[in-house]
Amino acid sequence: MSDVRNVIVIGSGPAGYTAALYAARASLKPLVFEGGVAAGGALMTTTEVENFPGFREGIMGPDLMDNMRAQAERFGAELIADDVVAVDLTGQIKRVTDSVGTVHEARAVIVTTGSQHRKLGIAREDELSGRGVSYCATCDGFFFREHDIVVVGGGDTAMEEATFLSRFANTVTIVHRRDTLRASKAMQERALADPKIKFIWDSEVAELHEENNKLSSLTLRSTKTGETSELPATGLFVAIGHDPRVELFKDQLHLDEEGYLKVDSPSTRTNIPGVFAAGDVVDHTYRQAITAAGTGCSAALDTERYLAALV
Ligand code: FAD
Repeated sequence: MSDVRNVIVIGSGPAGYTAALYAARASLKPLVFEGGVAAGGALMTTTEVENFPGFREGIMGPDLMDNMRAQAERFGAELIADDVVAVDLTGQIKRVTDSVGTVHEARAVIVTTGSQHRKLGIAREDELSGRGVSYCATCDGFFFREHDIVVVGGGDTAMEEATFLSRFANTVTIVHRRDTLRASKAMQERALADPKIKFIWDSEVAELHEENNKLSSLTLRSTKTGETSELPATGLFVAIGHDPRVELFKDQLHLDEEGYLKVDSPSTRTNIPGVFAAGDVVDHTYRQAITAAGTGCSAALDTERYLAALV
């Protein structure tokens, strides 16, 4: 059993590293669990990030995360490339167990475990991610000017992404596996009224094809008849939802109606005193690196105030 820490940060995306940076500069000596395989978070899987302020020419996702990591470390954050596998958050001293069974104790915990976008689960999807396949129109739409784009999904996110993309794209085609949409009426109406957006109903994407290592076309399959057809497309936006990483916490922390960690907004306080949450594990609205970093900062400041009130 180790000494009791001030704060343990779980997660190492923009939210986790920013929380660690602020906590470290406040002399709280945070211990950060970065995750065993995915240290650095979602931006490690992308190429150019053009919308994180301060980088006039843009920056590669992994470089941005290396910088954030080094900045947190410079001020004394202790980083461990391991997964947290169990937590006991209920007492005044919180217990966090790593993958080899060591229990770490702290007075406060900041949860920044992010969320995982759902994938189609078809061949070549990973290989073509960043080469035509995307999961975030706000992040990548700008790269798809004059492209023929397919958006997969039938909910609010899919409608919003399609409407946003129609500003840049040649054509936007929404492929949906049913013949009705789940999206709210207002979002549906906006997409249906957009002259650049067309719909292909009762269909799913079955195969991805590439030319020069970039997406070039899709095979669609009818969910009714099984018939297949080819659709040329150089952009594919998969908008079928996200799964916040709440598994470890869901029996102790309250979730909102969409399954994300619930905080006492605009603070980052959860239902348990001394436990704070930030970034995409909380946020199903904005899901950006800068908003995750922003709430990571808030979580560290909330933690600092919580710890100051304990003494
Ligand atoms: P994440 O970045 O998801 O980090 C979560 C971290 O928690 C991970 O490191 C994970 O390993 C760790 N973790 C999870 N469970 C555990 C555990 N049990 N123990 C220890 N660690 C754990 N946003 C932009 O603003 N601009 C862009 O251009 C942009 N491009 C994107 C491109 C792609 C391909 C993707 C997927 C996302 C992109 N985003 C972009 C969105 C952005 O990456 C996210 O909004 C942001 O990373 C969320 O930060 P986060 O810190 O909340 O979570």
